[in-house]
Amino acid sequence: MAPTSSYRGRIAPSPTGLLHLGHARTFLIAAQRATEHEDTLILRNEDIDPQRCRAEFVDAMIEDLRWLGIRWGEGPDCGGPHAPYSQSQRREHYLEAWRGLRDSGAIYPCTCSRKDLAQAATAPNDADDEPIYPGKCRGRTDAAKFSAPAGVNWRFRVPDGEAVSFVDLHFGPQQFLAGSDFGDVVVWRRDDVPAYQLTVVVDDAAMRISEVVRGRDLLKSSARQILLYRALGATIPAFYHCDLVLDEAGQRLAKRHDALSLRHLRESGWTAG
Ligand SMILES: [Zn+2]
Repeated sequence: MAPTSSYRGRIAPSPTGLLHLGHARTFLIAAQRATEHEDTLILRNEDIDPQRCRAEFVDAMIEDLRWLGIRWGEGPDCGGPHAPYSQSQRREHYLEAWRGLRDSGAIYPCTCSRKDLAQAATAPNDADDEPIYPGKCRGRTDAAKFSAPAGVNWRFRVPDGEAVSFVDLHFGPQQFLAGSDFGDVVVWRRDDVPAYQLTVVVDDAAMRISEVVRGRDLLKSSARQILLYRALGATIPAFYHCDLVLDEAGQRLAKRHDALSLRHLRESGWTAG
């Protein structure tokens, strides 16, 4: 493929534990695609959730990525034109997006309790996905009264019945139906933490990412995020989803598979070459 000068890829680990083989595969593919296009790879530290992220895992993640032979041109350790590259330092960007979505009516405050949701939610088509929000707060029109997001959940109103399509660069044409494959997703949590779906879109847009490489389990998330890009008036990147690494039982690797953490493999004498 002819190199283009505009390719910007990223790897975006979350420091909630040690990186394992499943992450390594996705990140190596992302790094390889950036190299093929002779262009920039960005490292973004997705440490937005103070409940789950720990600083010690940020250092471990950088060490593990270097051990894999991955090199990046912009990141929390080396800076760059779109700094900061740690989500915990980018709150102002997310707040700006929140204000825009509030003002355009794309999001609404939701005060449903966990119990309300458990009782009313429809099961999604996909068993391990989150339940579809039943819509109790959808009609609320008081968003403009909030000067800050804290205290309620903020949900993004998806266009029910609309087919969201994109061509994945690995898996080909994809289509998901808003309102039945996924519902109104939380973009800002009541404990005042912006949610993954919002932060990833805001950052990929701000950092001018042209291609997102991620695991197959996020195909549906990509469809949801396309709607968010539109609502934010941002350019939608290309998507390349990777196969997941499975364990012997056919389950995807999770952080509980400590034996397959890159650190453990390195300490037991593996080489990444
Ligand atoms: Zn609600």
